[in-house]
Amino acid sequence: MQRFTRTSAARATRTLARSFSSSTPVLTNYGFIGLGQMGQNMSRHLHSKLKPEDKLFVYDVNAPAITAALGNTKDHGHQQMYAASSVVDVGANCEVVITMLPEGKHVKAVVQEIVDLKKDSPTVFVDSSTIDIPTSQAISQLVREANAGEYLDAPVSGGAMGARDATLSFMIGREGPKLTDDRLQFIFDAMGARIFFMGKISSGLAAKLANNYLLALTNIATADSFNLARTFGLDMAVYAELVSKSTGNSWASATNCPVPGVKAGVPSNDGYKGGFATRLTRKDMVLACQSAESIGQPLFLGAIGKEIYDKACEREDLANRDLAVLYEWLGEMGGDSRVA
Ligand code: NAD
Repeated sequence: MQRFTRTSAARATRTLARSFSSSTPVLTNYGFIGLGQMGQNMSRHLHSKLKPEDKLFVYDVNAPAITAALGNTKDHGHQQMYAASSVVDVGANCEVVITMLPEGKHVKAVVQEIVDLKKDSPTVFVDSSTIDIPTSQAISQLVREANAGEYLDAPVSGGAMGARDATLSFMIGREGPKLTDDRLQFIFDAMGARIFFMGKISSGLAAKLANNYLLALTNIATADSFNLARTFGLDMAVYAELVSKSTGNSWASATNCPVPGVKAGVPSNDGYKGGFATRLTRKDMVLACQSAESIGQPLFLGAIGKEIYDKACEREDLANRDLAVLYEWLGEMGGDSRVA
């Protein structure tokens, strides 16, 4: 395990020269910023599949998250992951920078710092966070205007389980030909199972927001349906199995079954810890509603759905647990004494 602390623009130039030289092997230094629920596992998979000559620099404002990411490498038996001391440190060392951060303002600040540092040196910025479309377009513009490389939005679907199992779906917003850069193909193959090319810049995010609007609502419908079944006195394990094979099947009802004790390896089985936080579901709901409003597209369930997530997020214990916790919370609100 190595810790990396020095920062130098000169070294950045060396790194770039090395990376783009015609001699083989070509080295690539990847950077990963944002080591939370998703970033921990995504960076672990990226690291485990690096070519022997490549390196991965990881950074998070929360220092224990960096220590945890370095700890994840133990199984792979090789030391190619380095703890960066700052965003600038990542920027100075890496040609390809992946971000997995909470909101647009975080991503924009990170990209701006790196662009300011490297000015005309090319960096490929891959943002897999779920952020608002106007900020994504502003980031694309700032990279383009500074002639600082390339930015693409590459949000993911599949949640924490998809990150853990490297089965994420990437939704790519990118102008021009599909993937001509082997480094991009490597990243997406290492961390995911599917790539969807959605078209121009920010269309990956458009797809992500439309999808997560659907997820947020099916999660509420699942909670209602499962509480109804419980109140009917049904065996919940049998009901969950039935739904998973019937027309009520969805990610929220089957893959992320909300009933504790029914399915192994899902957040409901561990006090709704981990997974996709209710606060992030609310964030996506808000972003989807705002985007729809900005283009005059009515979302007929938007207001009621947002109100439910707003209310849930008034409680920190709900806001920070997996969205399936709505099953328990709405069950309690309905006065169902049988809800555990
Ligand atoms: P998280 O809150 O667990 O992790 C975010 C990490 O970013 C934290 O470790 C935080 O310390 C770090 N961070 C914040 N600001 C930073 C900065 N300026 N520089 C460096 N690090 C910084 O969030 P998450 O669940 O990993 O989600 C990350 C993004 O992915 C969000 O945009 C989310 O909407 C999206 N997403 C999450 C899921 C999921 O299931 N959790 C699924 C799909 C997409």
